[in-house]
Formats: sequence, structure tokens, C-alpha cells
Amino acid sequence: MEKKNYKDTLNMPKTDFPMRGNLGNKEPLIQERWNEMDLYNLVQKKNEGRPKYILHDGPPYANGSIHAGHALNKILKDFVIRYKNMSGFQAPYIPGKDTHGLPIENALTKKKKVNRKAMSVADFRELCRNYALEQVSIQKEQFKRLGVLGEWDNPYITLDKKFEASQIRVFSKMVERGLIYKGLKPVYWSPSSETALAEAEIEYHDHVSPSIYVAMPAVDTMSKLPKNTKFLIWTTTPWTIPANLAIAVGPEIEYVLVEVDSSKYLIGKSRFEALTELLNWSEPKILQNIFGWELENMTYKHPLYDRVSPIILADYVTLEDGTGLVHTAPGHGEDDFIVGQKYGLGVFCPVDEKGCMTEEAGERFKGLFVEDCNIEVIKALDELGVLLGRFDITHSYPHDWRTGKPVIFRATAQWFANIDSLKGEILQAIQTVKWYPSWGDVRLSNMIKDRGSWCISRQRVWGVPIPAFYTEKDTAILDPKVIEHIAKIFEKEGSNSWFKKDAKELLPKGYTHPDSPNGIFRKETDIMDVWFDSGSSHHGAMMDRGQPYPADLYLEGSDQYRGWFNSSLITGVATENQSPYKTIVSHGFILDGEGKPMSKSKGNGVDPNKVNKTLGADILRLWVASVDYQSDVTLSDNLLRQVSESYRKIRNTIKFLLGNIYDYNDELDRVDFDNLGEIDKYVLIKTNNLVKEVLAAYDDFRFDVVYRKVTNFVTFISSFYLDPAKDVLYIEKADSLERRQIQTVIYKILDTLIRLLTPIIPHTTSESYLHIPNIKEKDVYLLDMPKVEEYDTELEKLYDDFMELREDVLKALEDARNEKIIGKSLKAHLVLYPKGKVANLLEKINVNLAQIFIVSKLDIKTEGFGKYKGNDVSIDVYVAEGFTCNRCWQVVPEVNEDGICPRCQEVIKN
Ligand SMILES: [Zn+2]
Repeated sequence: MEKKNYKDTLNMPKTDFPMRGNLGNKEPLIQERWNEMDLYNLVQKKNEGRPKYILHDGPPYANGSIHAGHALNKILKDFVIRYKNMSGFQAPYIPGKDTHGLPIENALTKKKKVNRKAMSVADFRELCRNYALEQVSIQKEQFKRLGVLGEWDNPYITLDKKFEASQIRVFSKMVERGLIYKGLKPVYWSPSSETALAEAEIEYHDHVSPSIYVAMPAVDTMSKLPKNTKFLIWTTTPWTIPANLAIAVGPEIEYVLVEVDSSKYLIGKSRFEALTELLNWSEPKILQNIFGWELENMTYKHPLYDRVSPIILADYVTLEDGTGLVHTAPGHGEDDFIVGQKYGLGVFCPVDEKGCMTEEAGERFKGLFVEDCNIEVIKALDELGVLLGRFDITHSYPHDWRTGKPVIFRATAQWFANIDSLKGEILQAIQTVKWYPSWGDVRLSNMIKDRGSWCISRQRVWGVPIPAFYTEKDTAILDPKVIEHIAKIFEKEGSNSWFKKDAKELLPKGYTHPDSPNGIFRKETDIMDVWFDSGSSHHGAMMDRGQPYPADLYLEGSDQYRGWFNSSLITGVATENQSPYKTIVSHGFILDGEGKPMSKSKGNGVDPNKVNKTLGADILRLWVASVDYQSDVTLSDNLLRQVSESYRKIRNTIKFLLGNIYDYNDELDRVDFDNLGEIDKYVLIKTNNLVKEVLAAYDDFRFDVVYRKVTNFVTFISSFYLDPAKDVLYIEKADSLERRQIQTVIYKILDTLIRLLTPIIPHTTSESYLHIPNIKEKDVYLLDMPKVEEYDTELEKLYDDFMELREDVLKALEDARNEKIIGKSLKAHLVLYPKGKVANLLEKINVNLAQIFIVSKLDIKTEGFGKYKGNDVSIDVYVAEGFTCNRCWQVVPEVNEDGICPRCQEVIKN
């Protein structure tokens, strides 16, 4: 007799959902489908009337292809936007682009070899604009490829006419509040770029500088010190010696007068030993002690010039290095400038914009670049016999982040925003913001506390002009009415009109000023710091588009504490009296597999565009979800491979779930909770717990928790529920209650998983959703997050205890397998000897134990002990005796002539 093939009688999984993701090829097609149905706007429309959730996009700089850091940022934002849109909010996403500034000027002159001098400023700016727009469109496509949905065709761009007009209106409001002024002030100045730099444009690198000790001869010691006293100072910038206008001492610091050979030097007492050794003093004698406060108003003569200057007091003087007497040049240092203001020292700055000494430095130094001037100053001091020591010192020194060259402090006429008068308000505003991570408020508060005035002018051309005019007497005109007139011009013609028109054409018709009797005016040539551009986006991009102020969230890299978070907060508080954001989330930087920063030049970066094409954007997105992004994170091909492995598990589970609901209709076939088996109920409760935990994690921006919870859950249900469920799903009658019970649960698991994962791997969940029978929506993104249900906790507790018993049983089966007692667990016959807790538990639960442990036979004995010991249970494992059923592969006592067990006979009868 021919053996019957019973395979056809099994309910084997059926689905077209492919096992392989093939994401690199498939994602663009999925995105095309999203575009065709206009998914972004469908979602916005669906959420119409819900409270708005505004994540305001920090505009990335439009220069070059996107790198991994951009991808991390945009993907995190997409997580938030998608989650909020599925959680009771309407969360629009308007991407921004930062388009002004030096890098674009440099790209044109250096990369594209544009000869700036051969064209007008307006024409050069036109080239900058075109270049920026090209970059915007390149980056737009790359961002979209990550699966980020938003108003890509309606972004905000800082070079946009309306944005520019809005920006100078923000500036005007600050003028009105009296916060804008022009002053001479030392600022970071880059001789290599010939411009002032913002703090955010500074990088610290090690630099070798000359370290010199100079004796300044006293003039008036107010009878407290001998007349031939010399004040010993120290500096690592000898080129600032010509600009020396004072020596600062600490009021509480103790100083000593030391006699070396026949000279008398004043130094900090605790520096005595260090200086004795460093300067090779033989037999130095301490003649006298004196406190810093007693030195105030003594005078000394500048060794190089016929100039007498005072000793002054300053709190920042320390004895960590140097001599305890601080060389003070108000034109070349922030602290020096501030203390100089207090003592009325004036600002002296004999250095020009190229970093060369001016005539004011004297004939000997005139025209020398600062570093060459160092050498010449040292020589001059040595000739005069006042140089007591000269060394090299390697220290951390500020550099221009773009040219990589050292910067200097240089006093120039600049436009400033006065932060001091706003500081209290800003610090208060910081307290109203929620910070992720929590140290964000301290970080930003400290930066604001330490911040001097904000220098907002730049001596460049590619930016928004400062809308100021000058009279015939050179008085500056900053008039809100005039600025509003300019804003209207910008709105129509863009800011290039400033460079195309002369002052008269820009000023309101018939404008007069008493300082310009002849009606002649000059326009400002400086442009605004680009941080003012992006820093006013709460007006230009949010409020002007009808979005509320403040935004719910700003989410950027941790470098933005000194950048965008900072500048937006200042302009926000200055114009709206409160913070522009309610919440800040910051992320770290991306390091390579060895923990080193990624850089183009080192070639150790992972290119997100390449990953999108090979592994797929969902893998990159899953990686973003897997890391603790609030610190620095590592990214390497190896890590992506690990994430791909997790992805494969998720995908296979989804495929299994899809495969077993092909004949299930959730509306018609769903089994009520009360009619489910206990294990089914338990799994539903665990699924509900997952929902609870994942939603909380999303609310807390902890995507790594989402990732961990979901991957753990997938592992848990696969082995605990889905593997044993095959015995029912495949074997039992298709429409049997037992099978429908499990289908009810796996449908719920599938539905839950793909909703929960839609913010993270939207391509995959979108694809999965379309394979579910009887779906109602065009895309899973049009659904909401699963609801949290209330369940009785008693059953959960029982089965949590059962999980311990399960561990012991699996361990026993594993041991028996290792001892070659059994092969597959389905061939096993288990005997349990429960005691105490376990005996108690087994009385209370109602479950098919053989099925859940995937064995053919299971007995429970109240007497005796088994070979394998567990917690309140011992276990024996035997080979099940009997015949293997040809259909279900269970070992049973009897089978019919076709080799089929009674259970299977019953199933196939119909
Ligand atoms: Zn069977």
C-alpha cells in the first residue's frame, strides 16, 4: 500500500512576505508608494484637530553630502515625529537648511576657483546662493532616502527672502530693547580668514608658544617697596607685550620681594621655589612680604616704550603657573578688557586684520605677523636685559575650525548683543525647559553665565547684512522704523538688494538725520553671525508659519549647547521673554569601531548613503535605536552586521506571524479574552506590558529601551509561545477553537509589533502591514500606537513563577540531550517530581505541559525524585515509547495502518 502524503492536511504557513529584506532595493519602491499616496499629508490630515506637537528642526549646514552624524540626527527626529503622529498628536515636520556663512564662500573661491575680486559683491553672493541651493537639493534627496517624512518641498531655508526679512525683524526687536550696540572689543579673530569668529567656530588644539618672563621696572611703589623693584610677569604671547597697559595682581594673594644678585623682583610667594629653579636663581633672598591689595595703584614703566602703567587688582589671578603677576593687554584678551574697563585703561590694539603689527607698535615691529613679532619682541626685551627666561610651552590654544590656523584676540569695532542685561531672564528660562540628558541645563546655564556680549558682526559678504547706516559724522543709525522698511525690501527682493542698491535707495523716501546735513548716508558692510540666522528660526520658520511659540522640542547634537540651543535661547528670550523650546534632547557624536572620531580625511567614517544602498535605511535606523545616543556612540560595519542579525530575527518573527494568519479574520474569528487558554492570556498580558514599557520609553526619548524591549520580547515569544504553537497551528483543524485562540494572540502580537516598530523601521512595517489580511488603511503609519489594556495580575504572577519551572525543564532537556539520552525534545518523555512551591503552582495552572515543553509525553509524580534537580522540582527525561505519527511527529502509544495518531485521525476525518 502506498503511503499517503499527509503534508497537504497540515496548515503550513502561507505568506508572500519574503524572508530576505532586500532593503537596499526595496526601500526606494516603498518610498515611492509613500510619495504617490502622499503619506505625510494623509497622516497630517488624519490627525487634524489633535493637539500639535512641534519638533522644530535645527537647520543643518548646506555643504556637501550628509554624513553619519546627519543621519543620526534626522533619524532620531523621525522617530519622534512618527511616534507623536501615532500617539494623539498632529506632528508636522518642516526641515530647515542653514545656507549662509564662510564655508560656502570658501567652497566657491577654493573648490570652484571663483575669482571674487573680478566681480561685484552682489554677483558673488548670487553664486553663493546658487551653490547653497544645489547643496540643499543634494542633501534633501539623501535625507529622504533615510525614510524621513516631512515637508521636503516646503522647507525653511535661511537664504529665503521671507526668512531674511523675519531675521532682521528679530534683530530690530533687540534694537528696540536696547540690546544692540557697537563697541571696540577684543574678539576671537582669525588672521587666516580675516574675520571675527564666534565661540562656536573655535577649536582647541595643542600649540607650541614661547613662554617668557619679563621684569617691568617700578616707577612709583608708594613707599611700600624699594624704588628699584621690578615686577615679574609671564606671557605666552610676546606679541601682546607692546599692547601691555597694566599688571594685574590678586588682592588676597601674598607676594614676596626676592633679591637675586643685586636685582629685586616681586613675585607670588608660592611661586618662589618653582621660579628659583626655572630661572636658575642662585641664593635668592626673600626681603619682604606684601599682599596684593597693597600693590594697587603702584606704577611701572613699559620696557619698550615711554609709558607708565598701573598695578591693578583682578580676581582671576591665580598662582597655578606664571608669577602671580598678570600681563594685561585690554585689546587682546577678554578678562583684560573687562578689568581694563573697570580701571579706565582704554583699549590698545596695534594689530591689523591680517594679524600684522601696525605703526602704533613702533617702527621695530611694524608690519610683522604676530608670530614673527614674538621673536622680535623677545630679542628687544633681551637686549634691554629685562628678559629673565625664555622657554617653549605646548598648550591648548584656540584655532579657527575651518582653516585650522591659530586665532588671536584682537580689539575691533563690532556689533554686539548685550547678554549681561538678559542673563537673569535667560537663566530663568533655562529652568522652565526639560532636559535630556538631565545635565543639559547645567551645561547651558554655565555657558550663559560665562558668556560675554555676543559679537554678531562678521566682516564677510555671504550673509544677512546688519541693517545699519552711518551719517556724515559717522554716527550709526539703528532705527526700528528704518529696519522695518528694509525688511519689506528684503521680503520682496531678498537681502542681495542691500548690496545692489546704495544707501539712499535703501532708506525710506525723504529720510533725514541731523548728523547728515547734506543727506549723505553710508550703509553698513558687515553681515550677521550665521548663528543669528538659525537662532532666529523660531520666528522665520515657526511663528511666521503659524506654529506656536515655544516649540515642544529641539533635538540636536551636543555641540549645539554652544550653538543653536544657545543663540535661539538668547534671541527667543530677547523677543518673546521666554525660551523658544519646552524640551531639549541632545545626542552625542559618532565614533568609529575603535572609539575615534569619524573624519573625512581619515576615511574611517561610515557613509550613510552607502549603507542605505546596501543594508538599507531600516538597518541604519535600527542601529540608531540600539545605541545610547545621548552619549557618544560607535558605528562600524561590524556593529551594523550585529544590528542586521537583530533585524533578521524581527523580520523572521513577523514572517512567521503573517504566515499563520492567512485564513484568519480578526473581526470574525477573534476569540474573546475569557475564552482563551491560560498561556494565550499570559502572552497577551506580556504583549500589553511590552506596549506599556515601549510607549513610556518613547515618551522618554529612550529608543534604546524600545529596541531592547522589542528584541527581548521577540526572543521570548519565539521560544515560549510560537515554537510550541506550531503543534496547534499546523496540526489542528484550521477553524478549531484551539487554533483560533492562538491566531487571536499572534494577530495581536503582529499588530502590536508593527505599530510599535513603525517609528524605527517604517519600511519594514509598511511592507509587513500590506501582507495582513483585511487591512483597513493604506499604510501602517495611518494607525495609532496600540492602547494599553488593564488585565488581572493574578494570572501573570502565576505564570511568571511557571517561567522558573520552565527554565528548569529546559535545562533538564538540554542536559539529557548532551548525554545523548534524547535527540529532539519531541522524542522525549518527561517526568516531573514537583515539591513545595512547584507542586502548589501545578495545582493552580491549567496548561498542556507537554505541548508547552514540546515533548511527546509528560507525567507528574507526587512521590520520588528525578535525576535532574531544579528549584522545588526534580525531573527525569526518557525516550518516549511508542510510534511516531506520520503527520504530527509526536510519539504516541498507537497509530493506524497509515501511521497516523488518533488525534490526527480525528483532524483529517473531516
Ligand atoms: Zn499525529
